[in-house]
Amino acid sequence: MNIDSPIETILGVGPAFAAKLKKRGISNVLDVIKCTPIRYVDFTRVKTIESVVPGQYVVVAGRILTSKSSKSFRRGINLLTADISDSTGVIIAIWFNQPFLSSLLRKGNSVRLYGLVATDIHGKKVIKSPEIQVSENSEPEAKYSEKVGVPSGVFRKFVTKVLSLTAEIADPLPDNIVHKYNLISLSDAYKFVHRPIEMEDVDIARQRLSVDELWRLILVQKTEKHKNCELKSYPVKISSDNYIADKKALKFDLTDDQIKTVDDIFSDIGKNVPMRRLINGDVGSGKTIVAFLASLRVISNKLNVLMLAPTTVLAHQHYQTWGELFPSVNHALITASQNIYNDRVMSRTKIMTEIKLGGGALICGTHALLNLDQEIIDRTALVVVDEQHRFGVEQRAKLINGKLISPHMLSMSATPIPRTMALILYGDLDVSVIKHKPIGRKPITTRLVSEAGRDVMYRFVDQLINKGQQCYVVCPLIQPAEGEDGEGVYEFVEEKKAVLDEYEKLKSTIFSHRKIGLLHGRLKQEEKDEILNNFKNGDIDILISTTVIEVGVDAPNASCIIVENAEYFGLSQLHQLRGRVGRSSNQSYCLLLAKNWNDKVNARLEMLVNSNDGFELAEKDLSMRGPGEIYGTMQAGIPPFKFASISDGDLLNRASSIAKEMMELGPENWPVVTKNMIRDLAQKIHRE
Ligand code: ADP
Ligand code: MG
Repeated sequence: MNIDSPIETILGVGPAFAAKLKKRGISNVLDVIKCTPIRYVDFTRVKTIESVVPGQYVVVAGRILTSKSSKSFRRGINLLTADISDSTGVIIAIWFNQPFLSSLLRKGNSVRLYGLVATDIHGKKVIKSPEIQVSENSEPEAKYSEKVGVPSGVFRKFVTKVLSLTAEIADPLPDNIVHKYNLISLSDAYKFVHRPIEMEDVDIARQRLSVDELWRLILVQKTEKHKNCELKSYPVKISSDNYIADKKALKFDLTDDQIKTVDDIFSDIGKNVPMRRLINGDVGSGKTIVAFLASLRVISNKLNVLMLAPTTVLAHQHYQTWGELFPSVNHALITASQNIYNDRVMSRTKIMTEIKLGGGALICGTHALLNLDQEIIDRTALVVVDEQHRFGVEQRAKLINGKLISPHMLSMSATPIPRTMALILYGDLDVSVIKHKPIGRKPITTRLVSEAGRDVMYRFVDQLINKGQQCYVVCPLIQPAEGEDGEGVYEFVEEKKAVLDEYEKLKSTIFSHRKIGLLHGRLKQEEKDEILNNFKNGDIDILISTTVIEVGVDAPNASCIIVENAEYFGLSQLHQLRGRVGRSSNQSYCLLLAKNWNDKVNARLEMLVNSNDGFELAEKDLSMRGPGEIYGTMQAGIPPFKFASISDGDLLNRASSIAKEMMELGPENWPVVTKNMIRDLAQKIHRE
């Protein structure tokens, strides 16, 4: 038997077990080894009964006060219960259908139990079907997930039989790197994680396994970036006189972060190697202007700029803003429903011709840009991708992998990304951060509003409207009582507000004298555009909307946003929603309501009240909810981490340095396993 042998060769794995394991993707010895324990029973880590809380797996030690065996007459189950006490309290242990344990549970005996804490109907603490320590053996015992299809104890026996084969596992890191970064070999890591002598072994093993999850991702990104250097792009000549003139067209001075970002971009696009840069900035930090200033320089080189937006509304917004600021510079809008060139509505073909003759234009649009004439793409030097995480890697790739030339790419993300996370998600990009917002903006006042305060809140909104301002009301659902994402939320469904309901209610009662608009994702694109334009023009006082307004909508006259059921939104998302207001010199407000208040919800929402800093909130969101939930959908193909924690800075620094050293070592000097691993991972991330 060796590490690649099929599981059937493991003694004790019969056809039935084999079939079950294979269903879970466990088909050879290595797969078994990679299936690491989900927790450990360490009978030496005893907790006081007073300190344990429901939901935890714990070890408690105490004396048996009473024990009794009974039959539950309803289902004929044998029930064994025992009251266990230590100096701090009493806990009830319950076993189902294990009457043979009663011999171990004599009154007065001392026992150690390991199990899941819960509460019974009287609110008393119970520990369900706990394991009883039998031997004096103090080694922590590994517990395996029963999701693999076999009981933990059975799986443990399989592991025991193959554990010596961990020695065969090829290490993807050279020895010197392993030592330099204070790690253990991968084979030892697997040995320790399965069979620790003490819990410290598990910590050491997990460090190695975590670091591996991170460095290989960073290395994949670095190799992608490296490949980029072999491509050619148009070098854009920058005339500083023209740049100074461009800035004069703006009504404001650039912030320091904006200036720095423009400098970064100018230096990149001056080269004939394509730029791959991300602007990581808070909402309202002024990313668009930066992209525009770069675009102007490209266009004066008689080359095109494509500005790709995730929605028609946003594409239109960019087109309009450009037209207001730089009306004499060629600009076009190409969407499925609307095609405009320099403010004249035209057929698509006509626009293509104009652009080709015009010698450089800004072309705003949605996915429709993916199918522009090749001739135009060939004369495109810069692609700007707004809200870049809304696009698939494939779509972006299509735009930047031109036949003749690979344009420079500038991505913009309005979700501030903590530095650590950016390293993993966007390691293949250079990052410019716009941290500070333009001066003179009043911070948005954020308040938690209780149900009792609802009427006062509405009256307040009414006064704002009297002053000529506008308001958003955001609800999580479109229609009442529907499952939002399919599952998991049904228990609360009836407590979630829906825009259709809210629209009818507000329109016919408290705000019957106001103009109310309704916006949600099920409307047709033209309907959405019309409503948003009406709102921007002030023809709607209150816009009731789902989170479709979250992305980038700029209606500066809106000074208040009410979020219903704020408990269902993540911090970053709420911050995004809040970013819809505070876009003018008016004092703006963000009012948060929740149906299910509890300490956790309260603590989370208080963070928004106390901070207007998207980066700070993103860090907190990350540490509270973990990367999967927040960034899971942001970049397709990034595998979920089994061991690594993104909030561990030390771990990330080590991983990042390792990736750098591996890069310097060069792929030709990597172990074979590393080459294969990086190739497979790159395929998964970049082509999915
Ligand atoms: P975002 O980064 O969220 O995309 P925008 O680019 O939409 O932000 O900018 C938000 C608003 O701030 C716009 O109305 C824009 O004109 C304005 N703005 C941008 N830069 C500055 C600045 N330096 N000073 C004042 N206002 C600015
Ligand atoms: Mg924007």
